[in-house]
Amino acid sequence: MKNMILIGAQGAGKGTYAAILTKKYGIPHISTGDMFREAIKNQTPLGVEAKGYIDKGQLVPDALTVKLVDERLKKPDCKKGFILDGFPRTLSQAEALDKITKLTHVIFLEVRESVIMQRIGGRIQCRKCSAIFHKTNMPPKKEGVCDKCGGELYTRDDDKPEAIKKRLAIFHEQTAPLIGFYDKKKLVKRIDANNPVPQQVADEIIQVLGE
Ligand code: AMP
Repeated sequence: MKNMILIGAQGAGKGTYAAILTKKYGIPHISTGDMFREAIKNQTPLGVEAKGYIDKGQLVPDALTVKLVDERLKKPDCKKGFILDGFPRTLSQAEALDKITKLTHVIFLEVRESVIMQRIGGRIQCRKCSAIFHKTNMPPKKEGVCDKCGGELYTRDDDKPEAIKKRLAIFHEQTAPLIGFYDKKKLVKRIDANNPVPQQVADEIIQVLGE
């Protein structure tokens, strides 16, 4: 059973490693950011409410976010495990998650600020399937086009410099303290995520998680 969360600042590579891990273990990759972006694209009530916060680089209120995750984790594909990416992001979300499920692994991706800025600066994402690429580190075969589904690649509004600064400040203030919370439960494994080759970082995570 692998009920895991990935914690790391923006640009640590959570989404990229999660895509590798989901294939390896056959368990779903659950990204609250991707779920919100999907809801916004489909203009659902949740999407309409979340959009205002997300575009400004703020967190969506806990009540909305916890409900979204609770419903997702109840789906049958999570029975064998899951990879949560981008949740929990606050202590109150972590406490709520404790009541929903029992975690087996907390992977903390440590990365230098200079690496973060370089990675987010070049990040592009598929509008259709959410796959992530990088203009220089991991370019798509054809510029502007997703290798996986042919969708359009774009730069997220919240990856623009002002929003990035705000998101990093929120990470340090609200998300980093989660490490202490999970350290007390002896769940945290620290991984050096400065390595520019995603597969190598993913291999280190796989070593920690086991087969
Ligand atoms: P991400 O793709 O994980 O960077 O998420 C993009 C944006 O979605 C964040 O900047 C938040 O506005 C929102 N979001 C994603 N996950 C959460 C969460 N766990 N709590 C609150 N807001 C979130």
